[in-house]
Amino acid sequence: MAAAQLPIELAGRRIGVVGLGRSGWAAVEWLLARGARVRAFEDAPPHDLAARWAARGDARAELVIGGRPAEAAGALGDCALLVRSPGVPADHPLVVAARGGGVPVVSEIELAAAGVTTAVLAVTGTNGKSTTTAWAAHLLEHAGIAAVACGNIGHPFSTAARETPAATFVVEVSSFQLEDCPTFHPRAATILNISPDHLDRHGTYTAYAEAKWALTRNQDRDDLLALGPGLLAAAAGRSRARTLLCDPVDRGASTALFVHAGGLWWRDREDERCLLPVGELALPGQHNQVNAMAAFALAASVTEKPARLLPGLRDFPGLPHRLEPAGEVGGVVFVNDSKATNVDSLRVALQSFADPVVLIAGGRDKQGTFESIAALVGERVRHLVAIGEAAARIRAAYPEVPAETAPSLEAAVQRALASTGGSGVVLLSPGCASFDMFRDYRDRGEQFKALVRALQGADAPAPAGGESPRRR
Ligand code: ADP
Repeated sequence: MAAAQLPIELAGRRIGVVGLGRSGWAAVEWLLARGARVRAFEDAPPHDLAARWAARGDARAELVIGGRPAEAAGALGDCALLVRSPGVPADHPLVVAARGGGVPVVSEIELAAAGVTTAVLAVTGTNGKSTTTAWAAHLLEHAGIAAVACGNIGHPFSTAARETPAATFVVEVSSFQLEDCPTFHPRAATILNISPDHLDRHGTYTAYAEAKWALTRNQDRDDLLALGPGLLAAAAGRSRARTLLCDPVDRGASTALFVHAGGLWWRDREDERCLLPVGELALPGQHNQVNAMAAFALAASVTEKPARLLPGLRDFPGLPHRLEPAGEVGGVVFVNDSKATNVDSLRVALQSFADPVVLIAGGRDKQGTFESIAALVGERVRHLVAIGEAAARIRAAYPEVPAETAPSLEAAVQRALASTGGSGVVLLSPGCASFDMFRDYRDRGEQFKALVRALQGADAPAPAGGESPRRR
């Protein structure tokens, strides 16, 4: 059974796609492969879009650049369905016109899911989605099950579905992608955590949280919903699926993964077994224990032999820009956590080190409540180097912490190194978006790593690890 159902047949019909980012483009290819005709809309085209479009040369696909809001209904024309890219807001004129004219609107996730017949496992949450998605796919590969990590992780679901139709799909889904997923139905899903983020787009925290819960809306009793700490009670009334709690603390839930006496345990009603010593997990920090548990729960839902998943809990290499070792200069260890773009990811980063760190934080302010972790910062940060637009607000949130402001990342790295006294950890964990100074979080992380390499000596190779900082 497909993991979603479209309201119309695609073949021969005209389908609109609004937003031609990576997933919009993938939706176009998917639709053409299914025999549809496509009209794609893009308001802010990159300079090479028209040329790239022309190069793909398919008479069944037409491109509409720009367009006046008042003409949206006319531009939709005979489109029988509109695929909305995650970057396109709900009040976009084309989306409004479609809804007003009775044209169904679906997301690229819904579109892709409607065409797959293998198991779909889905991951959402405020933080940890990519790590958990990649980890679950890694576990399945260990167990000999062909799996692909896709969705928001950077490989569109519809591309994966077209290229590897026989795989098990582990789909990372953001809150934006869950809008317009009316029938999306993953066999197993996880909501890792929900903390304030993207409020500019969702308006209120409640609206953002409900967008996450939409992941389980169509699940039924045969499906699995793995929940991160604190989410079990909220699932009542929102999900019909079997729940499994992923929490480092044993809360007594009848189906759960938890840590007890140094072991990672799996309880499935009467059956309880220790999977492995928790210290053997590939990644540090309690947050990664939750990610590992959720990845295991998803993978275990599609195999009869869960023991085969265990080696993959030990040897998952992790993803770049998430607490990634960036090299050592003298006795100082640099850690790149550029993907920490909100306050909660900064919190878990600080909790992952046993000793106080020198912290580089700041960037484009997403109105995070920096004050909410003031006690932790006071305890775990020995020196703060603030950068970017949020610098003043961050420093004001932690008045007790020795701090300075740096005008660039390069200056921040130098100031941070100077403040260490020759030992310890310098952690880049911005707690903010990157767009004030960088193209994106990857650019920020790559620049950070390049600066560390430059400090090590112009032509020195990338570090092979050195002595690891003490991690919790
Ligand atoms: P996402 O895809 O949801 O942004 P990532 O796996 O890319 O999640 O991690 C983003 C940031 O959040 C990183 O800084 C990472 O260290 C941190 N993080 C990872 N897992 C968790 C978690 N379970 N809870 C809180 N923060 C996390």
